[in-house]
Amino acid sequence: MQLLEDQIPAEVSRITETFTKAGFEVWIVGGCVRDLLLGRTPKDWDITTNANPEEIQSLFENTFYTNEFGTVGIVNDDATNENVKIVEATPYRLEGKYSDARRPDNVIFSKHIEDDLKRRDFTINAMAYDPAKKKLLDLYGGIKDTAAGVVRAVGEPEERFAEDALRIMRAIRISAELGFTIEAETKAAMQKCASQLGKISKERIRDEFVRILNSAKPMNAIILAQSIGILGYIAPDLEKGIGVEQNQAHSFDVFEHNIRALQHAADKNWSFEVRLAALFHDIGKPASRRWSDEKHDWTFHGHDVVGARITKKALEALKFSRETIENAERMVRWHMFFSDPDKITLSAVRRIITNVGRDNIEKLIELRICDRIGTGRPKEQPFRLRKYQAMIEEALRDPISVGMLAIDGKRIMEVTGEKAGPRIGWLLHALLEEVLEDPKLNTKEYLEAKILELVKLSDKDLRAIGDAGKEKKEELEEESIKEIQKKYFVN
Ligand code: ATP
Ligand code: MG
Repeated sequence: MQLLEDQIPAEVSRITETFTKAGFEVWIVGGCVRDLLLGRTPKDWDITTNANPEEIQSLFENTFYTNEFGTVGIVNDDATNENVKIVEATPYRLEGKYSDARRPDNVIFSKHIEDDLKRRDFTINAMAYDPAKKKLLDLYGGIKDTAAGVVRAVGEPEERFAEDALRIMRAIRISAELGFTIEAETKAAMQKCASQLGKISKERIRDEFVRILNSAKPMNAIILAQSIGILGYIAPDLEKGIGVEQNQAHSFDVFEHNIRALQHAADKNWSFEVRLAALFHDIGKPASRRWSDEKHDWTFHGHDVVGARITKKALEALKFSRETIENAERMVRWHMFFSDPDKITLSAVRRIITNVGRDNIEKLIELRICDRIGTGRPKEQPFRLRKYQAMIEEALRDPISVGMLAIDGKRIMEVTGEKAGPRIGWLLHALLEEVLEDPKLNTKEYLEAKILELVKLSDKDLRAIGDAGKEKKEELEEESIKEIQKKYFVN
């Protein structure tokens, strides 16, 4: 057990030692013990003890109640590592009856660690480690299941899922995160209890769904969710793609295409936003499929528009934030943009940036790649995409122009008394040339003083300086675009 001992952070050891010195039993428990055995860094550290909540609070300076189950958050103010800033300590719990498949009717504290382990969901989550005695308590074969990569319910599986149906999603999520399989009897019970998930709050379902998408194997998880009959409680519209054949460019039905696109986003370790959009991008296809006699093939006109609407409704039902919903909606709405090379001009790229938002434009390219790989094509088509990336950068960069100056034409007229006319343009370009040479000169004070000198020049002289400024601007513009293209190896 030395291996476990060595991985426990000092902040956590200090806390367990405080319990031990005060004469209480204390165990590190649940997912963190499992993660230690797997050599993974635990997301959070949970402690269980025979001390009651008041006793726990009396042992530490900075604590607070985190829920109605007696959990006390112990605050490590000086911790640098996020996951030990708050360590949660809960008295041994013995759970009361569940009459609603989601919450115990009451919570009873116990004097025995065994009671606490009995109420936990899976064998791999039901191990406890006593750091004082260096003892790993494994009453349900968690060590063996961790080593074999198996998710197995503690006790009678059907009873456990009937108590709290969220455990069905937890099983799938944990198996997706850890790459574990679900033991047969456990899986059969999940299937049997599937409809109970209807009683679980959408927020709890959403949180597990997010973790499934962010896992390494979201495709398998969605297939599993579908096969045991819970996908309908998560995103029923996804299921409508099953068996919906596509046109000749595709090898898979709409459902499989969506989840393959999602899996590519996970393989690339792309953001949650890209994964979500990938999963939903063709959700409008079943509703917009029409047969074309002319093409002798299926068409899906408007599936992007329909899909954006379905995505919005589906994510609203899951109580996602407004921001998440809007971004997903826009990505689905515009997911076809980078698939049509004829339409991709610089001004079209400018428009699409306005439509999807500046923060989403790179993600839209990633979505395009997921879409392409999701059809079964082996390559991402890197050259074309690099060209689009160069266009995006070009569209996003601030152009070199008199707009960069700390002074504008109106102010020049005020300062100099000049009337509107070509001289204002020459003056601006004359200033621009100086600022391009030395950007430090781009201050209101300097430019206003300089303009009073320049304004004394004749039309002929001023025009010559102005034209030189304009030429310099155009040269630099061209150079900067060449730089971008070079960066993406286009041209
Ligand atoms: P992670 O921290 O990576 O999310 P975890 O397994 O630690 O995974 P938590 O939500 O932190 O999950 O829960 C801590 C522990 O509490 C679990 O390992 C499990 O023992 C227990 N637990 C959590 N939720 C449930 C539940 N719905 N039913 C039974 N036990 C649960
Ligand atoms: Mg945890």
